[in-house]
Amino acid sequence: MRLKNPGNLDEIVGDVTLACPEDAQNAMTLSNEAYSDWASEPIKNRIQILGLVLDQLDGEKEKFAKCITLENGKPFAESCSEVESALGDGRFQLDQAKKLQVHDQHTQINDAITAEVWHDSIGVFLLITPWNFPLATIVRKLIPALVWGNTAVVKPAQQTPFTAGLLFKSLEMAGLPDNVVNLVVGKGSEIGDTLVDHSALKGISFTGSTEVGTGICRRVGDRNVRLQMEMGGKNALVILKDADLKSSVESAVSAAFTCSGQWCTATSRIIVEDDMYEQFCQEFVKKVSELKMGSGMDPDVNFGPVFSFRQKEIAIDAIKKAKKEGARLLYGGNTPETIKGKSGHFVEPTVFGEVTESMHLFSEEIFGPVIGITRAKDFQDALRLANKSQYGLSFSVFTAKKELADQFLEGVACGMVHHNLHTAYRHPAMPIIGWKESGRGLPECGQFARDFFTQKKAVYRYCQ
Ligand code: NDP
Repeated sequence: MRLKNPGNLDEIVGDVTLACPEDAQNAMTLSNEAYSDWASEPIKNRIQILGLVLDQLDGEKEKFAKCITLENGKPFAESCSEVESALGDGRFQLDQAKKLQVHDQHTQINDAITAEVWHDSIGVFLLITPWNFPLATIVRKLIPALVWGNTAVVKPAQQTPFTAGLLFKSLEMAGLPDNVVNLVVGKGSEIGDTLVDHSALKGISFTGSTEVGTGICRRVGDRNVRLQMEMGGKNALVILKDADLKSSVESAVSAAFTCSGQWCTATSRIIVEDDMYEQFCQEFVKKVSELKMGSGMDPDVNFGPVFSFRQKEIAIDAIKKAKKEGARLLYGGNTPETIKGKSGHFVEPTVFGEVTESMHLFSEEIFGPVIGITRAKDFQDALRLANKSQYGLSFSVFTAKKELADQFLEGVACGMVHHNLHTAYRHPAMPIIGWKESGRGLPECGQFARDFFTQKKAVYRYCQ
């Protein structure tokens, strides 16, 4: 398969040979064979090898960032942030492993008996990742999976294999033993079932669409395979009438249009209290108009193309539907074929006002740079509108009143929520959690990663 730069379709990024089901089967089998040696390696050795991997990544930040921009299309500065985010998550997980260790401190139950909890490795994990963060999503799953003694098979999106390939070079150079992790680049629709059905599989950490994620859950059925599924979203950013206008506008623009809106925690609905509505729309559009669209390696560009022809079609369809349903186009809506002579999957940052709760733009995940602004009568109405979604990933409220913020934080039905910070803000110590159709199973990242990647053993000792 030939892959092209989404922001410059004349530039060929590379050719890739896709794996077949037999390759997928072999990868799982080999990772299973490597498991017992890796699991019996002392944790300090595992930490050391994985630390070297992160050092390699740190030393080659630019090379990784360039590769991300070429295969994904996002502006180079955003790719640099992705590399930093991968390093942040990876390092946090290694620090956790140093701190927490494999056996908890023992408890003295009485004069003769002590008890402790052990956190044992489990076996082969399947890590399935999407194209929007081709490095960070792999690193945040892979480092905790391996450090706690498991082996893994990584299945990246078929259209972003090169960043994964670079990471695998770093793993090799750091001295990771053969087959502790295997990379399988292939079509999910062709090799996914083989990977999921393999008898050695002990757990799946998946990031991608709700449709594919729930399909995998159904396929796993009642097998003893643990699941961590991070799926779709329709994140709401709520602006109340007393909010700081400047910071709410800046946050909304950044959360809606970074990655051209192709971000799981991107803001995809803006809900504004009536008294603030006109002023917010005016300032928001002004700020959006300052974005510079173009090819990701162009230094002036801070808004890249969408990832693929398919993503462009989804955005065009959303724009058509919004117009037809009576939303007011406030900015953008064009989808140029070329910018500065480079052809790419370009979609202008697009803003619709007067979006109502019955419109497609309010409820359908677009995963692109098309945002709707909805009026709310008051705080209660804003909260009701935010919760009116099948998804529950990451929401925000902007208000100067702590009391209202607290009511929002308590009343909102989602896994991650922010006050006066945008929907995509996160810290490596905190988990990624999706409620409703945004997630299944145990949360990803943060201080709970050990829980997903280990099984517990309650150990009692009687001392004579
Ligand atoms: P998909 O669900 O289509 O793909 C995600 C991954 O699953 C890819 O590696 C894909 O492979 C693989 N896959 C596809 N079919 C199967 C299958 N039958 N069995 C096993 N694996 C399979 O999502 P996209 O890549 O299109 O990513 C966009 C979606 O991801 C959006 O809906 C977005 O909301 C969601 N997302 C969620 C995040 C979160 O943390 N909640 C973060 C980022 C994105 P292939 O590429 O070969 O099809």
